Amino acid sequence: MKTGYLIDMDGVIYRENHLIPGAVEFVETLLQTGTPFLFVTNNSAPTPEDLTVRLRHLGIRSLGPRHFYTSALNTADFLSEVHPGCTVLVIGEGGLLAALHERRIANDVIQPDYVVVGEGAVAMEKLAKAHECLERGARLLATNPDNWCPVGPDKTRPGAGATAAFLEASSGRRAYYLGKPNGYMFHRARQKLVEQARAQLDQVVMIGDTMETDIRGAVESGIPSYLVLTGSTTLEALRDYVYQPTRVLRSVADLTEELRTGVPSDRLDSPAFGQRAGSASRHGHRHQTDIFSLEKPRPRPAMTK
Ligand SMILES: [Mg+2]
Repeated sequence: MKTGYLIDMDGVIYRENHLIPGAVEFVETLLQTGTPFLFVTNNSAPTPEDLTVRLRHLGIRSLGPRHFYTSALNTADFLSEVHPGCTVLVIGEGGLLAALHERRIANDVIQPDYVVVGEGAVAMEKLAKAHECLERGARLLATNPDNWCPVGPDKTRPGAGATAAFLEASSGRRAYYLGKPNGYMFHRARQKLVEQARAQLDQVVMIGDTMETDIRGAVESGIPSYLVLTGSTTLEALRDYVYQPTRVLRSVADLTEELRTGVPSDRLDSPAFGQRAGSASRHGHRHQTDIFSLEKPRPRPAMTK
């Protein structure tokens, strides 16, 4: 059975600026065995070329831009499919600007069809300009729903979800959030993976560390999902979720031998076994779409008035 993999990056291949043990061997084995794969990330700031360089510096070579699918590419795919010839006001960085440019989606600061919000720092003047465009009828689109993103063990930065929430509050418009867990992200990533695979794929599997994005999106797109415990989710937290991954792995290292032999791994053999997955708890929803999620336990109402 020929399997292709969609693979999240942060918390799966690296964490902050450190490779996860066994990740190099895992990626090398994917390449050596000719296993189709595509890295799928909600970060809309970098281009696929940027990500190629980043992973090279981390120690993973032999990758090229074709191995990456970002939420910026997904946004450009989405707009060129649903509204060919549309115009946009963009709040975002190089990866988003390049993806839209490649799809010949023009910038318009006067009367754009969409305000597109991606990852990156933004000045108040730009937010005010976006607000004005929304008041004039532009629709609000965000590349991904992340409210914050980890940048260090105890440090986060605001994400595209937070910027979009600002504009939702000021304009009264609701944003449409692309990126994981949106099914369109999975649909187009899977399509790209299938196109790049030289052989017919019997199944596509999502590998990720975050329940709300990687696993939820896979479940809702009807594809199997493997949760790795090297990122944002602990084994103990799994019971809080309505949806569940198909398999739970200590890390991607569990899959290396399986890829070589075709024999399902004993996950206790993983080199990562015994290492505690770092999981800094943090207040607030990670993703802008979490306010609609089903897995958050609701506080029990007071028994009496
Ligand atoms: Mg992740």
